[in-house]
Amino acid sequence: MNLETHVLTGIIIQIYCFMIFIFPFNIIFTILFAFLSHFIIDAFVLITYHPPDPQKGDTFWLSWQIITYGSGGILILLFYPFVLGILFANLVDLIDWVILRILYTRMIKKVKIDWKYNHIFHSIIAKIRKKTLFWLPNWYYEKKAVISEIIIDIALFFGILCAK
Ligand SMILES: [Zn+2]
Repeated sequence: MNLETHVLTGIIIQIYCFMIFIFPFNIIFTILFAFLSHFIIDAFVLITYHPPDPQKGDTFWLSWQIITYGSGGILILLFYPFVLGILFANLVDLIDWVILRILYTRMIKKVKIDWKYNHIFHSIIAKIRKKTLFWLPNWYYEKKAVISEIIIDIALFFGILCAK
């Protein structure tokens, strides 16, 4: 899913881990649960608007990118004390979409890049999805499916407000 959903998940995990566990388990479980949360959240990506390929001429797609990255960035600034949860909830995307992409484009220029295969964790997530959530509708290209992610984000935000 998008940046703001993983950021909200990381914040909520860190809040509850620091409420429930004492040091050092609060840190250990924040790292562990935040990292694992990405696999669960992304397994549900089919029910959200998430075209696998950039829709560059589409103003709706472009607006949604600006909204998700913008709100994600604002949330990181507002909740920076929860950087541990935020970082580990986004680590899978950082490795697959940032670090590996830089490595492939800078170091292996001769290899033809196919982003369907040249990532590590999202291949595992795709396998989890195929084995468990295959019954979900595929709304990758459905613009109305932004509503699913907005509902998830609102639920997570209320979870944060209730915890504080
Ligand atoms: Zn992801």
